[in-house]
Amino acid sequence: MRAPGPAHPLVLAYHSVAPRMQERLVPSMITLTTELAAHVSALREVGRRILTAGQLAEELGHGGSGADVAVLTFDDGWADALTVAAPLLASLDVQATFFLCPGLFGNPERSMSFAGRMLRRDEAAALHAAGMELAAHSMTHPDLTAIDDRALAHELSQSKLEVEALTSTPCRTVAYPFGRQDARVQAAAADAGFALAFTYQDGPWHAYAAPRLPVPAPGVPLRW
Ligand SMILES: [Zn+2]
Repeated sequence: MRAPGPAHPLVLAYHSVAPRMQERLVPSMITLTTELAAHVSALREVGRRILTAGQLAEELGHGGSGADVAVLTFDDGWADALTVAAPLLASLDVQATFFLCPGLFGNPERSMSFAGRMLRRDEAAALHAAGMELAAHSMTHPDLTAIDDRALAHELSQSKLEVEALTSTPCRTVAYPFGRQDARVQAAAADAGFALAFTYQDGPWHAYAAPRLPVPAPGVPLRW
């Protein structure tokens, strides 16, 4: 890693977190606990404040640049968010943002999660109770650029409502599934009431196409 990084918020995009690699797991979806802890240390060493996506939205809304901010984000709602990531993050005194698909709670897909499935609704509530931020990642993880206006509005606003029902807190941010977006999707995210919407690639800062840095597979150094 190298300092100081981009002169805008540095948002890292993770999926599943595992204490060790397993054969069935898709490497690009996994971060080892040792690497996650090393990222936190490195961010602090270069003076980045680690905030949630919602806290970042708040600061930007008050005119801040977020240039000294880092945000750790975790996509999809894999069950190891609760069993592996949250305890580690809490021990490091870090609050992170978990982008969830409420329509996929309890999904048994195994290959991309150390825990071997996705969070159930009660586990998502427990993740929030453990001090983590929950945010929206659509209801069912479609390519938002490929669905009609009505489905697009539903995917965005319903996931926002369901996250808010779990947390009793405004859900101000969304991550586009696959990072896929265009001008129509950006406008729909704004219409749904989100203050920030994240892609899955690096680039210039834009509130409704906010860049994130995908974290590479285990053993591949993270460069920002
Ligand atoms: Zn996703």
